Amino acid sequence: MAQLEDNIAKLEDYLKRFRDGGVLNHINGKSQASSSGATFDNHSPVDGKLICAVARGTADDVDAAAKAAKAAFPAWRDMPGTERKKILHRIADGIVARAEEIAFAECYDTGQALRFMSKAAIRGAENFRYFGDLAPSARDGKQLPSATLMNVTTRLPIGPVGIITPWNTPFMLSTWKIAPALAAGCTVVHKPAEFSPVTARILLEIAEEAGLPPGVWNLVNGFGEEAGKALTEHRDIKAIAFVGESQTGSMIMRQGAATLKRVHFELGGKNPVVVFDDADLDRALDAAIFMIYSLNGERCTSSSRLLIQDSIADKFLERMVARVNNIRVGHPLDPDTEIGPLIHKEHFDKVCSYFDLAKSEGATIAAGGEAIAGDGYFVRPTLFANATNDMRIAQEEIFGPVLTAITFDSEEQALALANDTQYGLTGYVWTNNIARAMRFTEKLEAGMIWVNSENVRHLPTPFGGVKASGIGRDGGDWSFEFYMEQKHIGFATGAHKIPQLGA
Ligand code: NAD
Repeated sequence: MAQLEDNIAKLEDYLKRFRDGGVLNHINGKSQASSSGATFDNHSPVDGKLICAVARGTADDVDAAAKAAKAAFPAWRDMPGTERKKILHRIADGIVARAEEIAFAECYDTGQALRFMSKAAIRGAENFRYFGDLAPSARDGKQLPSATLMNVTTRLPIGPVGIITPWNTPFMLSTWKIAPALAAGCTVVHKPAEFSPVTARILLEIAEEAGLPPGVWNLVNGFGEEAGKALTEHRDIKAIAFVGESQTGSMIMRQGAATLKRVHFELGGKNPVVVFDDADLDRALDAAIFMIYSLNGERCTSSSRLLIQDSIADKFLERMVARVNNIRVGHPLDPDTEIGPLIHKEHFDKVCSYFDLAKSEGATIAAGGEAIAGDGYFVRPTLFANATNDMRIAQEEIFGPVLTAITFDSEEQALALANDTQYGLTGYVWTNNIARAMRFTEKLEAGMIWVNSENVRHLPTPFGGVKASGIGRDGGDWSFEFYMEQKHIGFATGAHKIPQLGA
């Protein structure tokens, strides 16, 4: 309790300047209000209290930001990769130096628990270091000689890009998208989620203090249908990297069609964790619980469908219920808290609506299934049992601490159930039968699969989904494939015969 009080006192110090001055846009190196002067209020999901006012960016603000990014592009593109690398490392240093401020602000702005957010800044810094190290070789190409030509390839940054991020783990996700764009030599206009704008602002300040030239990274706050839409439609913005809901992804594709935007989408999921009776059930239990109840279940890669073999289902679910009922829900800044409040009233209402739906669809509520009274948007961690895969609770992304358990009897049935969803982001498979693991992962429709493991991110590996879960991959060189254009140049090595027309 004393620790929580200390943390709240520190939080107040960190937030004071936002409470006084609001969260402003930042265009061409200058902090500024929206061109219309309009703001919107940002409330905390912890207690519903006002945190600060936020600039409500307009199409004019987006236009100014895109023009600044366009003007800054040639110099940033032409800066040697070794120099960009130094700046990205200084940004990483700045993030580490302000790790506590970032973590505390993120907790109060999003409702995420400190036990997870205390690592958000460190992970964000790693993203800048990792992609910074790749900056000097980002343009490297191939030599592909033919009989008459020396063919070479090189890569060039695509130009100014728009980056649109969601409210779940907004700090980490912003670094994850912006670091490779800068490393590639692109300039950026960032539109963070309206529900959680604070840490994106801190991140931008760190970047400019680290020596990032004005205009290379611009920040426009505001609503998706205003600032976000204008960004996706802007002629000077060459590509949109978007993380958010699948439906929003479709909208962005339509909005960007007229200007032929390149898009990269990281979208929703309804990811299966498949537990066979030959698995290490203790570890499977830990991982299944972690992957749905950490980060308040507001996690695209969460294992929100438990597919459990019927021979072990009763015992496994009984143990799970005991653990789920024991999860500590509380103030995000309390170091003991495991689940904090959901981001917003709107989202809280959506998650709660599934409690009644589960009953009406004929599933049982084995744990939780109710909100916690008070000012914040807290719900009890919830487990639906006796569900079938055709129920809405098994098909729709609930995006809260809510797990739907479904039983299966054979490997074939497990695979059919796992793939029977519009999504395909991640899958988790628990078995000690290596041949089964290989067969199963080969046929499982997902962009990322872990066998006998929770999701452990390794930056060089490809991150992304199939089906309605996304288009494109992040991580390692895949990020550069999105932010850069390939160029081929053929040099004649001699006087080869050129067809002569009209000769
Ligand atoms: P959202 O789609 O509602 O909003 C995301 C962002 O898009 C926000 O900044 C919003 O303002 C903006 N936006 C909304 N409408 C827009 C429009 N018409 N044009 C341009 N921008 C627009 O998503 P959310 O509710 O903030 O985030 C949760 C979703 O994100 C979940 O579906 C989750 O699975 C997904 N997500 C996916 C990944 C992944 O890597 N696959 C990671 C994190 C979150």
